[in-house]
Amino acid sequence: MKKIALIGSTGSIGVQVLNVVRKNPDKFSIISLAAGKNVGLLYEQAKEFSPKVVCSAVYSEEIGKLSAEYFFGEEAYIDAVVADADMVVVSLVGFSGLKAVLKAVKTGKNVALANKESLVVGGDIVTKLAREKGVAIYPIDSEHSAVWQALDFDFAKPFERIILTASGGAFRDKTFEETENLTAAQALKHPNWNMGAKITIDSATLVNKGFEVIEAKWLFNASFDKIDVIIHRESVIHSMVEYKDGSVVAQLGVPSMELPIQVAISYPERFYSGATRLDLTAIKNLTFEKLDEERFPCFKEIVNAGKAGGAYPAVACGANDTAVAAFLKDRIKYTDIYRGIRGALDAFKGGYDGSYESLKSAHDFAAQYVKTRFGV
Ligand code: NDP
Ligand code: MG
Repeated sequence: MKKIALIGSTGSIGVQVLNVVRKNPDKFSIISLAAGKNVGLLYEQAKEFSPKVVCSAVYSEEIGKLSAEYFFGEEAYIDAVVADADMVVVSLVGFSGLKAVLKAVKTGKNVALANKESLVVGGDIVTKLAREKGVAIYPIDSEHSAVWQALDFDFAKPFERIILTASGGAFRDKTFEETENLTAAQALKHPNWNMGAKITIDSATLVNKGFEVIEAKWLFNASFDKIDVIIHRESVIHSMVEYKDGSVVAQLGVPSMELPIQVAISYPERFYSGATRLDLTAIKNLTFEKLDEERFPCFKEIVNAGKAGGAYPAVACGANDTAVAAFLKDRIKYTDIYRGIRGALDAFKGGYDGSYESLKSAHDFAAQYVKTRFGV
């Protein structure tokens, strides 16, 4: 029985983690749950899974009455990394995931990671610390799960190239100029995946794919020139690995996050999932296109920030977190997300000493830049 600490239990990924746990009561138990403001759902989850510890950003009297130990406050999620957890699943959204991942790794816990922002921003410190502590980061992100599977679950296996697939998001057939006045409601209609609001916007801008390039760099110790991105509209092939001999190994499946979640939390086992099976004969077409970076300028900015390293990815992440939140409230234009990221990166004076604090201050600098520039 694997005891799971779940941080971000009420979100799109968190709920699906609990679906996998619910279907496999003989394999997993929930030792702790952490969420933000949705304390109604968190209360229901706590009643169903009886964790020892529950944490929420806002206080709930109802949760306080449960027999679990209860922590509340903006960073109370840290207390969900409990001593007797076998694995910590981090499905928080945005920069805050980094603190949770660092705490888990510091205390010697293997992490099943959905929160890609933590690797984008802090990949350097997270991977160093993980090596020191001898713990692993198992990817939940579907592309990285695909790569991990194509590597036979061997993070050290030599490869020639990682090929990440991208659906292209909601606006894949529009030029950058045509997206200027598109609304949050339009951007939230992802063609293939049903996900949380922030990542759905990140998929439309391709910030998400830029983040995934950086995530792949850290997870698989790959240089940027060994990571390619291609547009694959159907989201059937979740990503590929090319080997020295020219062989390309791909992972395929229906677009449901329950599968990569199960792969990550059940590793090194595989077991029956009950998931919809892929029917290849029902697929009329599988298409592949080169990524047009002119159409998706955010992608280029994010990858360049990754290449610049230091605190630049934290700046990009901070600007994006704040700009996307403002866009979701219809306070800025869609294309302002790009302007915010670009502007913050240009305005940043550098400064990184390898600490969490310097990443946080770069992130906060960028958030403030976006707030001031757009008056949000
Ligand atoms: P959601 O917005 O749906 O969920 C975010 C979760 O974080 C919620 O449970 C939310 O709680 C919680 N949270 C936010 N702030 C706090 C806080 N201060 N303290 C405790 N909990 C907090 O996001 P997703 O599930 O879509 O995404 C999660 C991560 O996974 C992201 O990094 C995303 O990029 C990545 N990912 C997501 C995929 C998807 O299919 N959704 C696919 C691949 C990666 P509450 O709602 O209660 O406020
Ligand atoms: Mg992904």
